[in-house]
Amino acid sequence: MSWGDQSRNGRILIVDDAIENIQILNHVLGEEHELLFALNGAKALELAHAQQPDLILLDAVMPGMDGYEVCAVLRAEPEVQDIPIIFVTALTTPEDETRALEAGAVDFITKPFNMAVVKARVRTHLTLKRQSDAMRELTLTDALTGVANRRSFNDTFGNEWRRCARASAPMSVIMIDIDHFKSYNDAYGHQAGDACLQAVASAMKHCAGRPQDMLARYGGEEFVLLLPNVAAQGAESVAQHILQEVRTLAIPHRMSTASEIVTVSIGAATQAPCEGGNPEMLIRTADSLLYQAKKSGRNRYCAA
Ligand code: GH3
Ligand code: MG
Ligand code: MG
Repeated sequence: MSWGDQSRNGRILIVDDAIENIQILNHVLGEEHELLFALNGAKALELAHAQQPDLILLDAVMPGMDGYEVCAVLRAEPEVQDIPIIFVTALTTPEDETRALEAGAVDFITKPFNMAVVKARVRTHLTLKRQSDAMRELTLTDALTGVANRRSFNDTFGNEWRRCARASAPMSVIMIDIDHFKSYNDAYGHQAGDACLQAVASAMKHCAGRPQDMLARYGGEEFVLLLPNVAAQGAESVAQHILQEVRTLAIPHRMSTASEIVTVSIGAATQAPCEGGNPEMLIRTADSLLYQAKKSGRNRYCAA
């Protein structure tokens, strides 16, 4: 079986200080899944962050950092807290089980291993993980354009605001609205309108390439671009880039008074977030600058 097939079946991090346990689990699971191994807690944390496994099999009793400690650390860190953890343990009193569940484990595998049980538990939890990943993706994505939805934007915006406040970094928000889109629908039909929204969203995605940038559909034909660590000058150049990319699509729009093709208007605002400050103000400023761009002829940007 190729590596590609294994990775489709999920990536599992196996953490155990005893090499013979790792060998057994490798034998049981290695053919079907992509496996990563760690012999101690510190290495487990490092691999969990770097490799983002779909499941962790965690030995409860290890010298140094034990499984409970590793579990508690993983549960406290946003980047890894959704990875399910199965405790692998020879301890099976109700107290042991309670302790592991309270630390955040989803299940147990007891030693000595029963191969069929190990396989079945692993498969079940990988399936659940795949389903919850898919569900999460759905709740955070706009179905038509594939960019983030407004709920996702709101979550990220709050977090990034606090992060920029702590780092004394600026933050920019760009609001983008398609010009005369109602008459585009009237002239070309709603389906063509949908295709236009998709094309414009995908063109704009190219303008925000850094990992922390976030493009979201804010409402009907309105988009918002979140640019953490970007100052006013940077925001203006992104706004210019967006105008250009949308023009380059050259989608005909015979009803527009702004141009013969589909264009957008943009408001770009920048602020230095502070702890306890008002993030809503930044959105409101970008929105009123967008309104200004509309009023002064569309197919342009206004910046603070
Ligand atoms: P302005 O230049 O001032 O922005 O005018 P506008 O016509 O673009 O703005 P208005 O708010 O009057 O109309 C927005 C239109 O966007 C109305 C609505 O039918 C259309 N719209 C919103 N969501 C969708 C969608 O998902 N698909 C399509 N095809 N049209 C949509
Ligand atoms: Mg051990
Ligand atoms: Mg519009």
